[in-house]
Amino acid sequence: MELETLALRAGYKPGNGETHTMPIYQSTTYEYTSADHMAHLFDQPTEGHIYSRISNPTVGFVEEKIAAMEGGVGALMTTSGQAASLLSVLNICKAGDHILCTAGVYGGTVNLFGVTLKRFGIDCTFVSPDATMEELNAAVRENTRLVFSETLTNPTLVVCDIEKFAGFAHSHGIPLIVDNTFATPMLCRPFDFGADIVTHSTTKYMDGHAVVVGGVIVDGGKFDWTSGKFPEFTEPDPTYHGTVYANYGAPAYIIKCRMQLMRDFGVLPSAQDAFLLDLGLQTLPVRMKQHCENAQKVAEFLEKSPKVEFVNYPGLPSSDQHEKAKKYLPKGCSGVISFSIKGPRENAARFIDALQLASTVTHVADIRTLALQPANTTHRQLSDEQLRAGGVTPGLIRFSVGLESIDDILADVAQALEKV
Ligand SMILES: *Cc1c(COP(=O)(O)O)cnc(C)c1O
Repeated sequence: MELETLALRAGYKPGNGETHTMPIYQSTTYEYTSADHMAHLFDQPTEGHIYSRISNPTVGFVEEKIAAMEGGVGALMTTSGQAASLLSVLNICKAGDHILCTAGVYGGTVNLFGVTLKRFGIDCTFVSPDATMEELNAAVRENTRLVFSETLTNPTLVVCDIEKFAGFAHSHGIPLIVDNTFATPMLCRPFDFGADIVTHSTTKYMDGHAVVVGGVIVDGGKFDWTSGKFPEFTEPDPTYHGTVYANYGAPAYIIKCRMQLMRDFGVLPSAQDAFLLDLGLQTLPVRMKQHCENAQKVAEFLEKSPKVEFVNYPGLPSSDQHEKAKKYLPKGCSGVISFSIKGPRENAARFIDALQLASTVTHVADIRTLALQPANTTHRQLSDEQLRAGGVTPGLIRFSVGLESIDDILADVAQALEKV
C-alpha cells in the first residue's frame, strides 16, 4: 500500500466490535493464566507482552506503523531521538569499538558520539559528507563497527549521498545507520538506497504538533549479521537462556535491541505518548506535502531579497545540494530553511524581533512557523570566527516553515526584512 494509506491503516487493526481508534493500553503489566506460559515468555519475549518497560500493545501498534512506512521489518520506539541514536549504536558497539559519523549532523548527536560515548570507551571519527572513497577508507579501523549519517542535516541542510555511504559501509562489512528525522519516510526512505538501520527524532515532523518528545529505531532487515564480525548476534546470550539473535532472521537487530537494551535501559515511551504520536503520523503525508510547498516559496522569496546574504535550501536550483536533492528528496526538501541576513549579528536579531507571526522557540519541524538565530541562542558562546568555522554565520536564521497560509508567512517575512 502507498504511504498515505499506511499512515492511516498500518499498525492497529480493529477486530469485530472493537474500537475504531487505537486503544491506549495504560498498564504496566500483563496477565497470563499459566505459569508455563509466563516461563515461556521469559525465554521468548517477542511472543507476548510481559512488562511495559520492554513492550506495550499501544506502543507496538505505532512501531508497526512506522516500520511499514519506512519499509522496514520492525521498529522500537524510545523516549527521545537521543535515546534512539544511543541505542542504535550500543546495539552493535561496546567499549573499545570505533564508529564513523558524517560531520554536520544534529548537535546533540555530535555531543553524544564525540564526547559522551568517548567516556564509555567508544571512539567516533567525524568524516566529511563529501569525502572521497579513499578518504573514507583511510578512516576505517580494525574495530570500526558502523557508519552513521543524517538524510538532511539539522540545521545545515546537507543532503546525504546515502548510496555512497551504504556502498562504503558494506564494502567493510559494517552497517549504515541513517537519521531520517527531517525527511521522514514521506520524502525519503533510506532503506531504498541501501541503508540498514533508520532512526528518528519523532519529536519533529512525525509528531509535528510539538506535544511529545520521542524517537524510534527501524530495522531494514537486510544486513547480514552472521559474517563473523558481529559475534553478539551469532553467539548465545546467557541473559536470555542462550538465545542466538541471528536465528530470528531479518529482524534480528531490532529484537536484540529490545531484549537487551530496552530491558536494561528502560526507555520505552508510555502508551499515552504513543497514542499522541500516532495522531501526528496519521496526517504526516498531507503535512509534509504542504511544508515542502510553503518552504520552497519562502526560499525563493528570500533568495531575491537584497538584505539576504545566502539561502540554504536544497530545493533551490542554486543550492550546491540540489543535484543530490533531486535524487534523494524528489518530493520536496522539508520545511526547514537556513538563511543569513547581511551585516552584524544584531541585524538578524532585529529580524527575529520584528517577526509577528513566526514563533521564536528552540524547536524545528512544527506545524507553526518558527525562527531562531543560532548565533544568539544555541551557539551564543562562540565568537564570529568560531561560528564561521562551524558553517554558521552571525546572521544565520534557522527558519522552519509551518502550515499557516503562505501569503501570511511571506507577508511576515517581508515586513520583518524591511525593519533590518
Ligand atoms: C532533534 C533531533 C534529534 C534528537 O531528538 P530529541 O527527540 O530531541 O531527543 C536527533 N536527530 C535530529 C536530526 C534531530 O533534529
